[in-house]
Amino acid sequence: MLRIGCHLSSSKGFLAMGKEAVKIGANTFQFFTRNPRGGKAKALDPEDIAAYLDYAGEHGLDQILAHAPYILNACAKDEGLRQFAYDTVCDDLGRLEYIPNAMYNFHPGSHVKQGVETGIQYISDMLNRINEKEYQSVILLETMAGKGTEIGRNFEELREIIDRVEDSSRLGVCMDTCHVFDGGYDIAEHLEQTVEEFDRVIGLERLKAMHLNDSMNGLGSHKDRHEKIGEGNIGLPAFRAIVTHPRLRHLPFFLETPNDLEGYQREIALLRKEAET
Ligand code: FE
Ligand code: FE
Ligand code: ZN
Repeated sequence: MLRIGCHLSSSKGFLAMGKEAVKIGANTFQFFTRNPRGGKAKALDPEDIAAYLDYAGEHGLDQILAHAPYILNACAKDEGLRQFAYDTVCDDLGRLEYIPNAMYNFHPGSHVKQGVETGIQYISDMLNRINEKEYQSVILLETMAGKGTEIGRNFEELREIIDRVEDSSRLGVCMDTCHVFDGGYDIAEHLEQTVEEFDRVIGLERLKAMHLNDSMNGLGSHKDRHEKIGEGNIGLPAFRAIVTHPRLRHLPFFLETPNDLEGYQREIALLRKEAET
């Protein structure tokens, strides 16, 4: 069965997210570990987590994806900002220890005029430091659209980060369809080529999740504006091809389209139908 869900607000806690997911036909979901623009995370509520885990077990929510706040920049020029990124990620991963099998997705960062090489080094430095803590969650690097000086604008940059992490056994990649399309990979017309390219450069065994978003902009636009499924430049046939692809269909899929819950419910139903036919 297709594993699909969407991004949910974490403000009411885990049990509330689990119930919301089930209500809209999802069997997984993504959430921000804290306010995406930063700030302190709410204190963990052990009762909420215990209730969520029971509920998740009963309703087949087996694996969820946490998303780091996007203001983090692991390759900032300022050492204090890099330390802040490290501290935040550690704090997040410490919380995720209570959720078995969770994965943690983050945007590699923006090198802001320091150059790609320096950026990649800082990001892998952080990952090496995090590894010392031996958290259980698999960490995912998200493929980026290449807006501004974003690192991760192509598969090679992610490969380079992974190569510089001493123990990369718990490191994976989350492919965002809008980002790779905006980054210049034509998944609309040539999905197979993109899958092969990913396999050649990174290795498909590293691909652990996908963000399903259509794109408001064109191939290679480096813009990163998400659109509803089938209403952007990627188009529904490409999403059908993704969720039925023999090497992708086992992945958990997460919608981050501009939608309310009813919109997500419709898109989940649509993609489930596409996957069956
Ligand atoms: Fe993201
Ligand atoms: Fe994304
Ligand atoms: Zn995006």
